[in-house]
Amino acid sequence: MPRTMIERGRFAPTPSGRLHIGSARTALAAALAARAAGGRFALRVEDLDGTRTREGMTRAMLEDLTWLGVRFDEGPERGPHEPYVQSARGALYLEALSVLREKGLVYPCACSRREVEELARAPHGREPVYPGTCRDRAHDAVLAQAHERGRAAAWRFRAREGTVAMVDEIAGAYAQDVAREVGDFVVYRADGVAAYQLAVVVDDIAMEVTQVVRGEDLLASTPRQALLYEAFGARPPRWAHVGLVVNDQGQRLAKRDGALSIAALREAGVRAQALREALLDTLGAGPTQDRWTPESIARGALTLRALSERLPEIAPLIAGSTEG
Ligand code: GLU
Repeated sequence: MPRTMIERGRFAPTPSGRLHIGSARTALAAALAARAAGGRFALRVEDLDGTRTREGMTRAMLEDLTWLGVRFDEGPERGPHEPYVQSARGALYLEALSVLREKGLVYPCACSRREVEELARAPHGREPVYPGTCRDRAHDAVLAQAHERGRAAAWRFRAREGTVAMVDEIAGAYAQDVAREVGDFVVYRADGVAAYQLAVVVDDIAMEVTQVVRGEDLLASTPRQALLYEAFGARPPRWAHVGLVVNDQGQRLAKRDGALSIAALREAGVRAQALREALLDTLGAGPTQDRWTPESIARGALTLRALSERLPEIAPLIAGSTEG
């Protein structure tokens, strides 16, 4: 008998610093979307990138979210899809890699980051397009070359030719020719850890996530993820990419400089209720949120100025809170 599909949303932060107001807004949107759909809401800790992950940040982040009134039904503490921490899910990613290997959809790559950058001559500030150097080489030869270089090979996914199209609930129609704009992308890193693109898809499938509400910075990753859903023969979730919070120059907030972290706002005496209401307002969610959907969120970034019009207490904290 087919199982009845329960709706499940999730918030999947990388615990690399204190939660800032943009991520908090996204978390709130994701929680609302799950609730409004009568579904469950999960917290997944994305700590695969050891260099970015900082001890104690998960707990601090949870405290900030709880303060703001964001509640999780599932997460590191409990839930049917344990563990909810990516560093403890390595076996699943390896298994997924072998599925892709069996299907001939991935190949080993011995290129260093620098070689890829040199070959691809990427325009400044853009990720280089992988030129396919190792694509048609014998796997044994690539693995041996990587070994000679004193490291393991990375594994790349063969991006099929053509446009990958999707509809985002906030951004609308979105299409990307992954093969031309990104190239074959890494799913398993040379340091023996799953790449974000693979881990996020494997986890969202395993955890039966039906709706992915997250920051707009990840919209450009979604077509790659759509290809992975295709490869695993799994049904993709509904995607909704929430605009980032930016300063008047359009620069996004940086986690590292903390001036507009939830912690800083708390310390400055901003009340949780006031912040929550201001953020809900920017999400197009009034006091009754039962029929709210991500489609109510305006497209594009939210400026701090627009936010401070709703919440004047934050104005003095705004200076120096963005990436420079
Ligand atoms: N861990 C990612 C981040 O913090 C988000 C992943 C996702 O929501 O798909 O940027």
